[in-house]
Amino acid sequence: MRCRVKIEVTLNGEQVHGRPGMTILELAREKGVDIPTLCYHPDLTPAGVCRLCVVEVEGWRTLVPSCQTPLSPGMVIRTHSAKVVAARRMLLELVLASHPDVCLVCDKGNRCELRQVAGSLGIILPRLRMKRHYHAAEDASQHVVRDLSKCILCRRCIRACHEIKKADILAMGYQGFGCKVIAGRDQALDAEVCQSCDVCLSVCPVGALQRREEAAHVQGRPTDRARETC
Ligand code: SF4
Ligand code: SF4
Repeated sequence: MRCRVKIEVTLNGEQVHGRPGMTILELAREKGVDIPTLCYHPDLTPAGVCRLCVVEVEGWRTLVPSCQTPLSPGMVIRTHSAKVVAARRMLLELVLASHPDVCLVCDKGNRCELRQVAGSLGIILPRLRMKRHYHAAEDASQHVVRDLSKCILCRRCIRACHEIKKADILAMGYQGFGCKVIAGRDQALDAEVCQSCDVCLSVCPVGALQRREEAAHVQGRPTDRARETC
């Protein structure tokens, strides 16, 4: 039997109804309100990592991640106030500041969610510059080429491997600037540790995980395997 209980909230000045257990993000998307996200994926448990989905709720002292905040009756929610947009722009600029400038030669092209979100927030060139992470591209897997230089640490791949594939191959490793996604005990993503299912690849929002057949010839730099055979 369908649950008839409704939760009434105010979303950007309009009275709307959601269902119990629904998050602010789910309600907003259902009502056609576009809230940018990078770590959120509809098939995965929300992690609240990227914080881009923050919104303002009247009476709450801080901005809240809409992907993890359930609706409660009477909430007054603003998804695009000046404070919210400024916070999103700053968060995204920090991500872009440590991301390599290889968009023109990256196979992800216009499918890159980082580019899409930057465009939606009107950010063309980041004002900030930070030390970049450099990791050699690795194509040890049957299907996946990993280029962790492009990784934005959204953890979608980790959750997908755990929640969908039930494999737990991937995890966060190291701390501080050295923090990165590792496979096994920080090994190559090869047949020894990985079940080569493509699940992680399918949820990566950027070009950090790409199909072998798409990646090597367009990245403009050799993969580890290519270097070995040179
Ligand atoms: S390809 Fe390997 S690491 Fe990726 S989800 Fe499948 S088992 Fe996990
Ligand atoms: S490899 Fe892709 S999915 Fe995994 S954390 Fe990095 S950006 Fe996210």
